This record gives sequence, C-alpha cells and structure tokens, in this order.
Amino acid sequence: MGNIVAIVGRPNVGKSTLYNRLTETRKAIVDDMSGVTRDRHYGLAEWTDKTFTVIDTGGYVANSEDIFEIAIREQVLIAIEEATAIIFMVDVTTGITDLDDDIAGILRRSKKPVFVTANKVDNNMLLAEAAQFYSFGLGEIYSLSSMTGSGTGELLDDVIKTFDETEEIQNELPVYAIVGRPNVGKSSMINALLGKDRNIVTNVAGTTRDSIHIHYKQFGHDFMLVDTAGLRKKTKVRENIEFYSVMRTIGALEEADVIILMLDATEGIESQDINIFHLAEKNRKGLVLVVNKWDLVEKDHKTAKAFEQKINEKIAPFTDVPIIFTSVTEKQRIFKVLEAAQKVYDNRKKKISTSKLNDFLLPIIENTPPPATKGKHIKIKYITQISASTPMFAFFCNLPQYIKDPYKRFLENKLREQFDFTGVPIQLFFRQK
Ligand code: GDP
Ligand code: GDP
Repeated sequence: MGNIVAIVGRPNVGKSTLYNRLTETRKAIVDDMSGVTRDRHYGLAEWTDKTFTVIDTGGYVANSEDIFEIAIREQVLIAIEEATAIIFMVDVTTGITDLDDDIAGILRRSKKPVFVTANKVDNNMLLAEAAQFYSFGLGEIYSLSSMTGSGTGELLDDVIKTFDETEEIQNELPVYAIVGRPNVGKSSMINALLGKDRNIVTNVAGTTRDSIHIHYKQFGHDFMLVDTAGLRKKTKVRENIEFYSVMRTIGALEEADVIILMLDATEGIESQDINIFHLAEKNRKGLVLVVNKWDLVEKDHKTAKAFEQKINEKIAPFTDVPIIFTSVTEKQRIFKVLEAAQKVYDNRKKKISTSKLNDFLLPIIENTPPPATKGKHIKIKYITQISASTPMFAFFCNLPQYIKDPYKRFLENKLREQFDFTGVPIQLFFRQK
C-alpha cells in the first residue's frame, strides 16, 4: 500500500513552499520532459529510504472569498479519508486564526496521524511563539522554516513512522487501477467489463482506504481492479470534484501494478492526465492508455495514428505504451484493454537472464560504444538484471559517471526492441567495475 501525505492549512501559511521543497529533486527531472505543466499539486517525495506521494491541498481552492472556507473544510475531510498522514500547517508570524481553529477541530475528530507544523520559524526567537499551537490539542508541534528547510528532517522522520509497512497485500493477483479525469467513462467501463455480474464486486477487507476492490475472475482473467469512480462523494464545491478525484487516483495508483489511464477522445490528453502518467511512470507502474468515446470522433484511416502521435509527443520520452481506442457505449475493444493490461503486467515481471542480456547487448555496445569523454574511453563490461519487483538493469563499466543520457536512452531502446517491455518503465544503472 502506498503512502500519501497531505499538507492542509489555510492559504499563505507556506504549504506550497514545503511541497516544492519535498518534491524538489523529482520536479527538476519532470520539468525536463515535454508537456508538463507546473500546476501540479502532487508529486513523489523521498525521505531516507521511503518514497511517498505528497499533495498540497491548497492548490485546488479557488481564491474567491465566499466558497473558500467551505472548500477548505471539505478538502480537509477528503484528506483525512484518503491520506496516510496529514501535515497541518500554520503560520507562526500570524498566530492562530479562526480558520486554523476550524481546521484543527475537524482534525481532532479524525483517526489519521496529524502533524501540527508551525511554519516560518526562520530563527530561534520565533521558536517560543510556536508553543501557542499546543492549544489545538493535536499533540506535538513541529517547528519549521519551509523557506530554509530547517526542521523538515525532524518532521519527516516522524511522518514516515506512520507509514503502512504491509506493502502489496494481494501479492499473488495482478492489481489494475482504472484512473482518469471525471467523466471520461471509468464507471461505464467497469460496468461494461463486469456485465450483469456486478454482484462480484467485493470490498476487500484489510485496506485502509475504502476504495472499491473488485475481484475480476471471468473470461480467463483473474485480477483485482481498483475502482476510483465507484465511490462518488457529493461535494459542495465544484473544485473539490477534481481534488477528490486526484486523491482517489493517487491512492489507487500506489496500490496497483498496472494503471489503466482513460482519456476522453473528444478532449485529448490534458495536463492532469500527463501528471498522472508521469506519477505512474516515476512509481514504476505499468501503464495502458485508453482513448475512450472513440465513437464521438469523426475519423478516417489516419485519425488513430495522428491521435497516437499527439499523445506520444506529450508523454515523451516514455512512449513505449499501449494505446487502445475504445467506445464503452458501443462495446468496442473493451476487452483489448484487459489483454493489454495483462501483457503489461507480464512485461513488468519479466526477467532476462544475464547471458541473454550480454549476448544481445555487448555486440551492440562494441559497435556503438559510449562516446569518449575528456579523452577517456568508456568500457561497459557486462550487464545484469537486478533482482527487483520491476525491471532494472545494472551496467558494469569503468567510468559510469561519463555515460550521458542520450546513450542511456539508446541502450534502453535496444532493450525495449529486443525484449518487449511495452507499458513498463525500466531503469538502467551504471556501476563501477
Ligand atoms: P500556501 O498558500 O500555504 O501554499 O503558501 P505559500 O507556500 O505560497 O507561501 C506563502 C508565502 O509565505 C510566500 O510568500 C512564501 O515565500 C512565504 N513563506 C513560505 N514559507 C516560509 C518560511 O518558512 N519563512 C518565511 N519567512 N516565509 C515563508
Ligand atoms: P467516470 O466519471 O469516468 O466514471 O465516467 P462515466 O462512466 O460516469 O461516464 C461519463 C459519461 O460519458 C456518461 O454519460 C457515459 O454514458 C458517457 N460515456 C462513457 N463512455 C462512453 C463512450 O465510449 N462513448 C460515449 N459516447 N459516451 C460515453
């Protein structure tokens, strides 16, 4: 089970500053890729040996005064429901406001771990001021300066202690998650797949989030499906439909082996979709793209190719992903989606023997060696697949630090051509030997 940390609090306390700090290194990598907008409010963070998803809740609230407090309260409730731990951020320079008190009240009633974080404690003089937040009755106060980063270590040390250690509870069965923006057709897809057998829907016990897990066992398939659309909550505030959907999505994403990302053919791939795609990619999940509502598109024999190309431009460089065009209403190609997911699942578990790897790659490397850097020749001696839950390859060489990204991509492409890792992010490591 993956872990989600939600940062809640009223505007201007410094939530996004902390968010940026926690996701910094990752963000730099992502922003290199094409098509990525900066309006992401969730991303992968790392502390010691733990990775987790951080969500900055504030980003989903419109700044219009009238709806804003209701929206924030509702977000706190959603965060309580969906997150593993909550960072409740307050501002030491302004002290406690009514909205802070409100949020604290909601959090006191929750069972999830809450970390009261006094932000903007930029110097020791302000440390004493932070004591006022004990009045929330939410326990320990973590003093922080998001700007400088001081105090983040102490906070994260304790946050990660709350994480669920029982990873991958249903290890034996593949877990697929159908995700996508509201209205793309997720529920319709699940209903169509289940047919009249909707009663096989089971809410598997032992999961902390009350997402619906469906054990799908028919037509030769046997897997768990995480349904993010099934439990639709009524929200009072429009923006929170999106927020809720994002929370559900990242929860499902963490649990699944393969992410079935559904798009609406009439809308194409949008920034929210690309963000989910990259989050799945960075979490090393398998991916299948589904372009649904294909019946609504005016098309000729070139339309699908053109559509694929547009998607690939946006998701590059990881474009080795199956794209299936479906119409749920006309029951077109919906079982192709399951076949693709199964294939991707198998690809993700694939193990290539060291001899096969070397027999294939060493001659290629011999013919096209890594370009010499600073007059030094780089020699790759052998390659082996690392024993891990997803495909990772170690390249042993004399000067690993001199191997550049284009060459790494070249090797990755060769691996993909030869061994078929469609839909699966693979990792290459270069090590000294
Ligand atoms: P959000 O609305 O809660 O996401 O708050 P932001 O992260 O946008 O921060 C609001 C303002 O507080 C910005 O001007 C930040 O630069 C500032 N800020 C954030 N963290 C700190 C901090 O640790 N110390 C000080 N002095 N300012 C901070
Ligand atoms: P969800 O929010 O992603 O679960 O989306 P729904 O399954 O509720 O679908 C949203 C709307 O799109 C409903 O009115 C569906 O009937 C419609 N819809 C779903 N799939 C298709 C499709 O393939 N073609 C067309 N034309 N409409 C679809």
